[in-house]
Amino acid sequence: MHTDPTIIEQRLARMLSQRLRPAVHARCVPLTVEVWHVPGEPVPVAAALAADHGPAQVGDRWGPAWSTSWFKVSGRIPQEWAGLPVEAVLDLGFGTTDPGFSAEGLVYRPDGTAVKALNPRNTHVPVTASAAGGERVTYHIEAAANPVVMHSGPEQLTFYPTALGDRAAWLADGGEGDRDPLYRLRRMDLAVFDAGVFELVQDLDVLGQLMHELPAQSTRRWQLLRTVERALDAVDLQDIGGTAAAAREVLAPALASPAAPGAHRISAIGHSHIDSAWLWPLRETVRKVARTVSNVTQLMDDHPGFRFVMSQAQQLAWLKEHRPEVYARARQKAGTGQFLPAGSLWVEPDTNITGGESLVRQFVHGKRFYLEEFGVETEEMWLPDTFGYNAALPQLMKLAGVRWFLTQKISWNTTNKFPHHTFWWEGIDGTRIFSHFPPVDTYNSDLSGAEVAHSERNFQDKAGSDRSLVPFGYGDGGGGPTREMMARADRLADLEGSPQVAVEAPADFFAKAFAEYAHAPVWVGELYLEFHRGTLTSQLATKQGNRRSEHLLREAELWSATAAVRTGAAYPYQALDRLWKTVLLHQFHDILPGTSIAWVHREAEQTYREVAAELESLVGAAQRALAGPPGQQGEVVFNAAPHARGGVPALGAAPRTRAPGRTPPVADGDGFVLDNGLVRVVVDGRGLVTSAYDITADREALAPGSVGNLLQLHQDFPNQWDAWDIDAFYRNTVRDLDQADEVGVVDGGVRVVRTVGASRIEQTLTLEQGARRLDVDTLVDWHEREKLLKAAFPLDVRAAHSTAEIPFGQVERPTHTNTSWDAAKFEVCAHRFLHVGEPGWGAALVNDSTYGHDVTRDVRPDGGTTTTVRLSLLRSARFPDPQADQGTHRLRYALVVGVEPADAVCEGHHMNLPERTVPGSAVVEPLVALDKDGVVVSAVKLADDGSGDVVVRLYEAHGRRVRATLTPGFALGGAVATDLLERPLPGDGSHEVAGSGVRLVLRPFQILTLRLAVRRG
Ligand SMILES: [Zn+2]
Repeated sequence: MHTDPTIIEQRLARMLSQRLRPAVHARCVPLTVEVWHVPGEPVPVAAALAADHGPAQVGDRWGPAWSTSWFKVSGRIPQEWAGLPVEAVLDLGFGTTDPGFSAEGLVYRPDGTAVKALNPRNTHVPVTASAAGGERVTYHIEAAANPVVMHSGPEQLTFYPTALGDRAAWLADGGEGDRDPLYRLRRMDLAVFDAGVFELVQDLDVLGQLMHELPAQSTRRWQLLRTVERALDAVDLQDIGGTAAAAREVLAPALASPAAPGAHRISAIGHSHIDSAWLWPLRETVRKVARTVSNVTQLMDDHPGFRFVMSQAQQLAWLKEHRPEVYARARQKAGTGQFLPAGSLWVEPDTNITGGESLVRQFVHGKRFYLEEFGVETEEMWLPDTFGYNAALPQLMKLAGVRWFLTQKISWNTTNKFPHHTFWWEGIDGTRIFSHFPPVDTYNSDLSGAEVAHSERNFQDKAGSDRSLVPFGYGDGGGGPTREMMARADRLADLEGSPQVAVEAPADFFAKAFAEYAHAPVWVGELYLEFHRGTLTSQLATKQGNRRSEHLLREAELWSATAAVRTGAAYPYQALDRLWKTVLLHQFHDILPGTSIAWVHREAEQTYREVAAELESLVGAAQRALAGPPGQQGEVVFNAAPHARGGVPALGAAPRTRAPGRTPPVADGDGFVLDNGLVRVVVDGRGLVTSAYDITADREALAPGSVGNLLQLHQDFPNQWDAWDIDAFYRNTVRDLDQADEVGVVDGGVRVVRTVGASRIEQTLTLEQGARRLDVDTLVDWHEREKLLKAAFPLDVRAAHSTAEIPFGQVERPTHTNTSWDAAKFEVCAHRFLHVGEPGWGAALVNDSTYGHDVTRDVRPDGGTTTTVRLSLLRSARFPDPQADQGTHRLRYALVVGVEPADAVCEGHHMNLPERTVPGSAVVEPLVALDKDGVVVSAVKLADDGSGDVVVRLYEAHGRRVRATLTPGFALGGAVATDLLERPLPGDGSHEVAGSGVRLVLRPFQILTLRLAVRRG
């Protein structure tokens, strides 16, 4: 046969786009349009409906960036449409074809209730299934002029710096250029919905896409080609509506031919990934959620089989507060089983940087919201888009009652392909969680033939399982599934040549996958994303806000609980609940990683200041209550750290017994020496550390001929995703900042001032008496662009691996690059410390702000090994925030010499939880005391249920089995092990009440939450 497939494929593509799709709404009449441009920020719906609208028409320009316009459209259904289905077609003139990345609209009835949303791929509004003819129609559209911050071209995304994300800055400048309208109204019509043409379009769409995916020589492919051609022949272009049925008859047998026995099975679940802030501010996300939920609940009306998961409790809480009628629709659809709250977390957080106790609260507040509002115990952790997953998560999931884990982000690895799609993920303590990475490799699927086929081809576990999950629906900026996607799902349920698609809940998928593949392979340890490594460093102020908030929350809970038990002071339940939720929100995976627009980060910095002020006042009030009257000018020192220091017990307070002192620098040539009898540090005339001598161990910490605390500047211009990525080639060039403007003694330390470009870096190096820690206090006025600033410590130690603090434990990573997996980890995350050592001796870098680190090793001519640890202090990416990290910053880090990882646990806490001195004279006995350093208390608080029980969360921090005794500082009325939500955890054998204490036996890195009853009277 002389058949040319390309000709037929091209014919199908043109017919669909230029004739058949437009013919769905061929019969139409224009609506009358009026508009009210909101003068400032968005207003409540009622206020907009009552506003004075002026005349407008299709073709009008509207919408300076971030503004809102309310369009009122009205018209009359023509008499001759009686009995026909009618829709409104409302095209705001969207600037891109990606829903959620440009203008968006939400359509309301005149009574203020929402109908559904508008985006570039979803412009219809159902008016009536059967018109009476002559009835009047009125709608209001809340049109959000969200600008296109990130342009997507045909080949790749572009990342040009833009001021569009910095609204406050250009409003302040009066930046008139940016106040030009961005959009132009394209279509505002009432139209007959031609269902026959719509269904024909979907038939052709599905068969055409399937055809593309079949092997070039398959019989089915050629049969489909011929069938599609015959169907197109049956369409009369002058009477598409009248001939659509005949064309569909041609296609019917091809659509009725069933899938092969044993075909891959896809559990498709409606979803809309909504970034809680990103290329838009938090306030816009509130509206995005209302739009998406309106869309999907409307779709549920039309498709009873449609199921949709929503994964961030915070977003539903917003809806409840701001759009209660939309929220009521969601709850109603939850009742029918169509709307499925999922994910178990308050937001979808970053899980590299977020602290351990914060992750606990993500589960607590997420699961509690779903339980209280929907009566649903969620059992999955749903994190499709987070930039790496720490190895403490499996245990946290289990302790939160979570059984399944889902992400697809590791498919973004640029070096290694992850070997499994369905597997057990084993954490640092040995807990395993059944996990699935959808092989479709996206969380925004539209159920296209290409994606469905890719799911099957890509699935790595075919030998043991025949099913995978596909989350479908427009996302990132919201939008959700469409009726076209549902039409695809219907046709793909059982279709020859395709995997079988069933729309069903994630819980159903996981139960079936587990049943057929319980012996899935195991992946041990962190899920490192080989991409987006710059997120460990970008937007330092945001990261510091989170780090400070986490430690202040610990202090506020600890001292408030202590004051409540000791003095009867009221415990600030509501304030802590609210403050926690604020901090949890900002751990969202585009805020904490530093990858949002300027608007988001400047607002976050302000929010963190307010959070800190409020927490400081809670801490202050509790400490004043505990410290007693400030009588004889005495001072009480509070120690919120989990280990004693300076004669003050962990988690307690005592009158000051000694004043801490710094070791005074002694001039030595053109430099200085700091010597406290434990460590001797030499700082030369360039302000560089030329020696850090461990006097006790009689060995030098720094590699011969090298200098410590060497600041290094790298060009940092990645190929894409500026705020996200550090590309490996950044290491090819480096500038050592080895010249100082000033080296002198200030405040008992050596102060070094350097300038580079327009930036100024002032560092003060100090050594406390009795400490093994060289503290470096850094003040930076930072004006570099596309640069990465590192602080390097070349250490004379042959370390096989580095040990980094992660939530509730540690992770070891090889220092070599034997495999591509090791080599790809050229920038890694550590929390409060990173340790390198050899048997008998080691050193740690501890920090109060830093997450990004790199560790390399070199063998020297003398045979020794240099292990270089570097901290990533600052970046200066220009997309999406062109001003990222500009300005002043203060951060601290320290080199601790001659220590084991166990000591680093203690030092890291001490640096982040400085002692507080309060006037008074009381001794404050800790609410709980532990007799082993390896058992670290993560939280002391009162139980959330208001019972007055004391809740203590602790963990084994050294990676060893430990027996310990917990001694309460009150009369113990009983001790119960609980899950993270403070509910009894049956079968936990790790504690036993013995006398007035509690005996503990913990396995390595075990987390234990104890609820301790206080016996009164
Ligand atoms: Zn995301």
